[in-house]
Amino acid sequence: MDEDLFEPEAGFAGLGLRPELLRALVSLGYEEPTPIQRGAIPPLIAGEDLVGQAATGTGKTAAFALPLLQSLTRGETEGPHALALVPTRELAEQVSQAVHRYGRELGVRVLPVYGGQPIGRQLQALSRGVDVVVGTPGRVLDHINRGTLHLGDVRTVVLDEADEMLDMGFAEDIEAILAETPTERQTVLFSATMPPRIDAIARRHLREPVRVTMGREEPTPGELPLVRQSAYIVARAYKAAALGRILDVEAPTAAIVFCRTREEVDQVTETLNGRGYRAEALHGGMSQDQRDRVMGRLRGGSTELLVATDVAARGLDVEQLTHVINFNVPAAPEAYVHRIGRVGRAGREGVAISLAEPREQRMLKAIERLTGRRIPLEKLPTVTDLRARRLELTRASLQEALDADDLDRFRVVIDSLTDEHDVEQVALAAVKLLHEAAGGDIDEPEIPSPLPPRREQPENRGPRPDRRSRNGEDDVTRLFVGIGRRSGLRPQDLVGAIAGESGLPARDIGAIQITDRFSLVEIPEAAADRVIKALSRATIRGKRPTVRRERYNR
Ligand code: AMP
Repeated sequence: MDEDLFEPEAGFAGLGLRPELLRALVSLGYEEPTPIQRGAIPPLIAGEDLVGQAATGTGKTAAFALPLLQSLTRGETEGPHALALVPTRELAEQVSQAVHRYGRELGVRVLPVYGGQPIGRQLQALSRGVDVVVGTPGRVLDHINRGTLHLGDVRTVVLDEADEMLDMGFAEDIEAILAETPTERQTVLFSATMPPRIDAIARRHLREPVRVTMGREEPTPGELPLVRQSAYIVARAYKAAALGRILDVEAPTAAIVFCRTREEVDQVTETLNGRGYRAEALHGGMSQDQRDRVMGRLRGGSTELLVATDVAARGLDVEQLTHVINFNVPAAPEAYVHRIGRVGRAGREGVAISLAEPREQRMLKAIERLTGRRIPLEKLPTVTDLRARRLELTRASLQEALDADDLDRFRVVIDSLTDEHDVEQVALAAVKLLHEAAGGDIDEPEIPSPLPPRREQPENRGPRPDRRSRNGEDDVTRLFVGIGRRSGLRPQDLVGAIAGESGLPARDIGAIQITDRFSLVEIPEAAADRVIKALSRATIRGKRPTVRRERYNR
């Protein structure tokens, strides 16, 4: 493998970032900038306005967050020095967590501001002083109108996922907010698509912006030989479990699992080893010697799975590889083509599997456009599928043993047992022992099918994975309702039943997820007991389903 790969110039240091940020990126395990970061960070540091065309998953958050932090001097101004506007509270939380992580060493004070959260907490934080505000347009405007947020010191405004903000009807709010910021500010606009309305905003509010678009190299003809491609849509919380199941069913001889960061490499390796796989991590930071040893174990068959980042796997060429698995959709479609070029060599069949979060489906489409091949979406194996697969493996091991002719020495065991039992009973007991020794039946909860992509959900219906109030109690509860699609259930049936029976206003009902047999509904914890009681008496679609708090831990 090429030793120069880890030269600082090839990484973030070459983009001119300050040491505190470089150290944060090292600790997060980011090895090299994504294409949008490479294109956007230098002009943003130089103070230019910028229009970036990039979807979720391309690394766009760091592309604008790092330059914001580059020029941060705490306490220099009274009001925030940067404002990022985002379409949903979910994104507000994510972006502000990212700013916090990158700027930890700089002591950055960042505040997410969105509707639905008690305003008191936001007011307190604002009065103590913040450096960066990340908010949804409606709530930001609310604060401006109350006089609790002053934007006179803002040097940079970011409009993130601008197309979504326009789709959600925030155009006027955005105009009103921009009018409150200094005219000499830097303005940055990111959008996955560039319809004329976005262009119009860019023309009106940005000054000679630099334009950064994700590059589109054509793949070399024939670069996707004989590769069976597929993708699974999985919510982030269930990705590791989903990966385990997919591997159980695929049973690869030798596979490489690509992750985004070193941290993720370590977590995935640990999960897979816990599930009984022989998985090894391949890091950019490992010495050549260590890497050679890992590769040797893969070639020799004592390791079956490599877990690696792109950088660590560069130049890696293993004849035996049968599967390439993308634990995330790669940030650039070209990277996907390079990754899966590692299987299906020399006329052999290869398999490329990608796990995509609901928000990342757009990136799968970009890959399909680049390669001209469709990536079919598959359903995750269910617990029943896995059990059937394990029984099949047990059967196959028995078949193999039957084909060998070294069974005679076990005859005395059969002979002595058949005095009391018939041969079939003895065979069944032997199969049971073999099955259990190979891991036995799996006993794990089902993975719920993911919520639809965020674009289809209004702001108050978004998933809220980690909501905890200050005292550590969930302020949102998920209810399990034992009726699903098979009974013809639609979201409006649940909203109608909950609102009608318990009096909880429809606007307080959060994300609704409907699977074949059951549904999950988010409601405020404070109303949970009342709703459960009321729903237990209700008839929905002719049935009286079980209603309880969801037990599955995420
Ligand atoms: P985003 O497109 O901003 O939503 O980022 C997608 C994911 O990629 C986030 O989980 C980031 O933490 C991660 N990420 C961003 N930049 C990099 C990088 N250069 N290397 C590895 N992971 C990254």
